[in-house]
Amino acid sequence: MKRVSYILVLVGLYVGVVFFLHQIRQDKEQQYLNHVATLLETTYTASLDRYALAMDTFHSGLIQQPGVLSLLKDGSQSEGPRQQALRNALYEQLLPRYHFLQERGIQQWQFHLADGSSYLRFHAPGVYGDNLLPARPSLQQMQLQPRPRYGFEVGRLFIGFRFIHPLFYQGQWIGSMETAVSFQQASQTLAQLAPGQAFLFLLHRGTVEDVSFNDLRGQLRPAIISDDFLLDDRNLRQPGHSPLPLDQLLDTLAGRTLDRQLANGQQFALAIYHQSLGYSATFIPVYSFDQTLGGYILALHPEPLLTSIQWEYYSAAAISLLIMILLGWLLLSLHQQRQQVLSQKQRLDAIGQAVGEGIYVLDPSGQTLYVNPATCRLTGYNAGKLYASNIHTLLHTHDGNDTLPLEQCPIFSTALRGHTYESDELFRTRTGTLLPVVVTSRPMIENGLITGVVSVFRDISERKENEHKLELLATTDPLTGLSNRRAFIERLHEEQRLCRRLQHESALMMIDFDHFKEINDRYGHSAGDAVLQHFAQVASDCLRTTDLLGRLGGEEFAVLLPGTDRAGALHLAERIRECLEQEPTHTDDGDIPMTLSIGLTLLDPADDGTSTALNRADKALYQAKSSGRNRVEFC
Ligand code: GH3
Ligand code: MG
Ligand code: MG
Repeated sequence: MKRVSYILVLVGLYVGVVFFLHQIRQDKEQQYLNHVATLLETTYTASLDRYALAMDTFHSGLIQQPGVLSLLKDGSQSEGPRQQALRNALYEQLLPRYHFLQERGIQQWQFHLADGSSYLRFHAPGVYGDNLLPARPSLQQMQLQPRPRYGFEVGRLFIGFRFIHPLFYQGQWIGSMETAVSFQQASQTLAQLAPGQAFLFLLHRGTVEDVSFNDLRGQLRPAIISDDFLLDDRNLRQPGHSPLPLDQLLDTLAGRTLDRQLANGQQFALAIYHQSLGYSATFIPVYSFDQTLGGYILALHPEPLLTSIQWEYYSAAAISLLIMILLGWLLLSLHQQRQQVLSQKQRLDAIGQAVGEGIYVLDPSGQTLYVNPATCRLTGYNAGKLYASNIHTLLHTHDGNDTLPLEQCPIFSTALRGHTYESDELFRTRTGTLLPVVVTSRPMIENGLITGVVSVFRDISERKENEHKLELLATTDPLTGLSNRRAFIERLHEEQRLCRRLQHESALMMIDFDHFKEINDRYGHSAGDAVLQHFAQVASDCLRTTDLLGRLGGEEFAVLLPGTDRAGALHLAERIRECLEQEPTHTDDGDIPMTLSIGLTLLDPADDGTSTALNRADKALYQAKSSGRNRVEFC
């Protein structure tokens, strides 16, 4: 699903880019086409002005002459054969000039009278007298105000630009003289001014059908660009060196809906393409004398700039597509990599969550990279605190040195040197209690470099407790809770070494109950046990914390008195004996009195092992027994 969204986003992005490029292309095209159209409009106006100037010159130099004007004046006032003779005279006089200008494209010479009737046609001298006013707006306007005019006009036999000059004789308006230039002639002039272009004429169908004779209409063909226009391509001259594919270009134009634009009567230009080459199609409106739209001059011109704009557009679109594909591929592979990393992380997280051991990872600077839930559970800290703090400072306590720098900590430094480290340590939890843990740390190696330290720790408080219990079992007498023989002998051995080193005096006391068998016999074995426990309690109360009371076996006890001389030891022994004598054991069967015999000795640096001192104390005890019991003897 995500992949589909990615692709959709990229496709959307690409469509946006192409749209943007297309806008740029259209802007560039339009800018250029506007320039082309303006240039053509100027050329068109210039070419008409050229003809107008020529006509003005021709008129003032040739027609506005007294000889010509008087012939027309007389002719207009005559009738019949005289008028015909005057007409012929006018014709004969101007015929050489007519031929001269006709060869230069200026044709349709015609004199009209002031009433709008034809007087003399040089191209048809035998046809005259017909009223031209209904079909000729130019003459209608001349009726309103006789002044020189020129413009486009569709006639019955001729379509082109007419130049009309009013004729005055002795201040009186006697008629007018017209000449004309066909569109073909005008387009040749345009072609000279704007080489390389082909000029076609689109004529407004309505105007032609209203005015022209069938003969003329038959020479025009439908302009496939629009039904409202007819195409006049008679005598069309293609640019010499590279003819244009006109039919194909017109077909392309027909594919556009231009009816509305053509109806506007405004100049406009389009870019069209044929076989990957660009052409401009410029429409210059042509207006009649009465300001109705007569048609359009359509100029077609190959435009290398349009071709290169088009190529620019296609190349940019192709490059964008390539970039999009690359981007898509890159994003997709990044996405896949991210997914892989994510699922790998999820797997690691799942493993980290599943294990009971605490796992944490530090980078080489000691920054926390990862902690698993068990770390939080075991230490009582939340993950945020563990990530934000230096885990080492927070958790690890070194024996007697809590402020050991991280780089000296063996858990961290050993692994950072590339070795595995394993040891029992103490971690301080959030509540301040010390948690015994076994920690294993290993270097984290990526691409051959140590990038961090992975530490795994396990709570070993239970193990420690069991070890402690075993230790207690091994060293404690279960009945009285006192040190057993083994622990006592060990401590005695230690004290003997201390005495030798520090050269202080220490005493050893051996205690045996008097006639204990009788207590057992009389009160039972468990009562005997209670007496032993009672003794342990009372004797412990008489001793200092540095003294050690131990049960050597049966009803035999021993006391080690470090830093105690003979007098002190005798005094303490007496106190124990007296306390026990005065405090019988209270049982359900009544109080059980008891007495003790105590043998005393001092530890001698010369003693060879513990048994020597014990034997001496035993000897003193024997003396106490044999001297009547319930007494203290020293050896
Ligand atoms: P004496 O004055 O000569 O020492 O006489 P005694 O009866 O105390 O003789 P001895 O010290 O030889 O007797 C030890 C007796 O202590 C033997 C045994 O029945 C008893 N005894 C040893 N261990 C225990 C014990 O754990 N509980 C009880 N109730 N009695 C014990
Ligand atoms: Mg005994
Ligand atoms: Mg005894």
